[in-house]
Amino acid sequence: RSDYVGFATLPNQVHRKSVKKGFDFTLMVAGESGLGKSTLVNSLFLTDLHKDRKLLNAEERINQTVEITKHTVDIEEKGVKLKLTIVDTPGFGDAVNNSECWKPVTDYIDLQFEQYFRDESGLNRKNIQDNRVHCCLYFIPPFEHGLRPVDIEFMKALQDKVNVVPLISKADCLTPSEIKKLKERLREEIDKYGIKIYQFPDCDSDEDEEFKRQDKELKESSPFAVIGSNTVVEARGQRVRGRLYPWGIVEVENPSHCDFVKLRTMLIRTHMHDLKDITSDCHYENYRAQCIQTMTS
Ligand code: GDP
Ligand code: MG
Repeated sequence: RSDYVGFATLPNQVHRKSVKKGFDFTLMVAGESGLGKSTLVNSLFLTDLHKDRKLLNAEERINQTVEITKHTVDIEEKGVKLKLTIVDTPGFGDAVNNSECWKPVTDYIDLQFEQYFRDESGLNRKNIQDNRVHCCLYFIPPFEHGLRPVDIEFMKALQDKVNVVPLISKADCLTPSEIKKLKERLREEIDKYGIKIYQFPDCDSDEDEEFKRQDKELKESSPFAVIGSNTVVEARGQRVRGRLYPWGIVEVENPSHCDFVKLRTMLIRTHMHDLKDITSDCHYENYRAQCIQTMTS
């Protein structure tokens, strides 16, 4: 079913207490403007983030993102609540000068840490609103043959602050063999330039074979190639999210068309807990240590 996100299976990952309270998760998107960031987050959680705006032509109803915007959606599945916050960023490329184009994004992440740090040292420590960014999807254009200098700089600026998950955007522009080549190239370059992207944790040896197979497949598919769409089309007698071309339909949730489902499963079903742990144990701890250092020096 396409309106089923799947986080209700999360109890397997975490303890009962958080199940009752519900989960918080904050996801950010970043990268050049026009690569489909707003469209993808819209497709990911099946909510029209921009629904208060007047609908134009369906293809155009996502306006250009001109400032950092935060949307929160409450989703509930099988009695499990998820408060999902999506931070949409304007993206670079519109300005003449792109130097330090990551600055608004890193500033935003730091500001959330700062807020958390202040709350944590305050009186009301039990009920802190956690707005820290748990994951940043970084969009890489499909038209290049690898990383551009700006992609390298951008991801490097983010890597010690947030879990960076690189994505190949608009994957419908590439053939399967082109996608394969680009993925290999990107993996090599990420390695070569020492970019620290989010590392999927090693699989526990006591997991069953099916789990191990899926885990291996997930790791081999990175960086995920994704397609977004805000339109529902008819394919094989079903209404699905897709893009209609004169030669056929590209289906967002069809695993043989792109890695969209893998990405969503990873974020919501299998790795949300790990993304949150790393945010608080590594990225936030780094920030905190720096704060304390400057306070005492
Ligand atoms: P943003 O600036 O990164 O937020 O990009 P938008 O989401 O506003 O999308 C920019 C344009 O790209 C819109 O016309 C979208 O319809 C189109 N678009 C979005 N996702 C895809 C995709 O996966 N494939 C293709 N071919 N076009 C897309
Ligand atoms: Mg946008």
